[in-house]
Amino acid sequence: MKSKKVLALLLTVLLLVGLVAVPASAASYTISKTPTTTKYYDGDTLKLTGLQLKDDKNKNINWKSSDKKFSVTPGNGDVLNLPDGYTEYDITVSVTYDNVFVGTFAVTVYKDGFVSTPTKTAYQEGEMFDPSGLSFYNKSGSGANIVFSLISYPADAGDANLTFVPSIDTPLTKENTEITVKYGTRTIGTVPVTVTAAMDSSTVKKVYTDSDMFNPIGLSLKIGSETVVYPTNKEHFSFTVPTDKTLTVDENSATQNVVVYYDGVEKGNFDITVTHNFEAIVQLEGGTMHGQFCKGCGQLGSVDQCANHVTEWIPNGDAGFLKQETETGTCSICGGKVTRNIPKTDEQLENEFNSYFNLAETTNETEPKILHFFFLIIVRLVQTLIPAGGNGHVFGTGIFQ
Ligand SMILES: [Zn+2]
Ligand SMILES: [Zn+2]
Repeated sequence: MKSKKVLALLLTVLLLVGLVAVPASAASYTISKTPTTTKYYDGDTLKLTGLQLKDDKNKNINWKSSDKKFSVTPGNGDVLNLPDGYTEYDITVSVTYDNVFVGTFAVTVYKDGFVSTPTKTAYQEGEMFDPSGLSFYNKSGSGANIVFSLISYPADAGDANLTFVPSIDTPLTKENTEITVKYGTRTIGTVPVTVTAAMDSSTVKKVYTDSDMFNPIGLSLKIGSETVVYPTNKEHFSFTVPTDKTLTVDENSATQNVVVYYDGVEKGNFDITVTHNFEAIVQLEGGTMHGQFCKGCGQLGSVDQCANHVTEWIPNGDAGFLKQETETGTCSICGGKVTRNIPKTDEQLENEFNSYFNLAETTNETEPKILHFFFLIIVRLVQTLIPAGGNGHVFGTGIFQ
């Protein structure tokens, strides 16, 4: 029995010691409000504003950066990172106050940028961007009302905020290497694309005159996995220049751009040159002039004197008193015959005059001068009364022409 008393006494002592060992003043806290913002993009910083605790007397303790009794991990201002491979992740934040562990709460971190990218990245020229497979998180609202919603294509294809540069109805060209995805004013990111030529025009005739019809024989297009070479399937092809009538010269530029369509879908473009077909020569003004005219449109080109293209003039031996001798040549361009007077110097004319009247060079000077004067009056009179003979342009100098 005595041992039982000892045991009871021992238990009483232990109990008393136990009560002393457990601090009667030990406080306890609970999280009564989580911070205002609990949803973040990857890379944002944690904001503890709004975090509130209650102590065991139901008294509120609001988080303040200056309250050093708070110990929160991760802390206010710490960068929140999404672990590799995740697009959405809850990060646990643990709170200790005055060295007493209080509890935890979670903040959710969402991927910034694309959650998934479009499936199709390889295009042929003329095709349009297909965003199918694209998704990303969009943040809307603020403070406690922040919502992260997953925007995806084609589910959200009708969302006017979802736009692309270039737009999805713009035919792609080889110059397009990426597509920018925007949601409202926010740029989500860029999708790299490769655009390959759907068209090979390297063997196509590109130099034309307006006598020719455009004929893109050999033009090669990739249609899906097939290659179609014009004129195969020619009824599917269309061009910005006609194929059923002769080409027209653009007077401002010899170069014209031809856009190629297949079943109405733009496949590419290339340049051709179209010039006048100035090969034909026409004689003008009775053969004294010639000009080039265009065989395509009939337009008259450069005009020139046939006399400028005579390489040999043959004298006609038809000189007489008051009639100059003429010579005739053949135009090397148009074959027209041109006759002109043989130009004579005043000295030649005076010698002819002297020989006609049998006047010696050494004769007294007075008599020939009077005769010369008389002769000139007659010549002028005759020239006034008789129209100048000969056809074509007359060449010569002085009053005797
Ligand atoms: Zn022409
Ligand atoms: Zn000529």
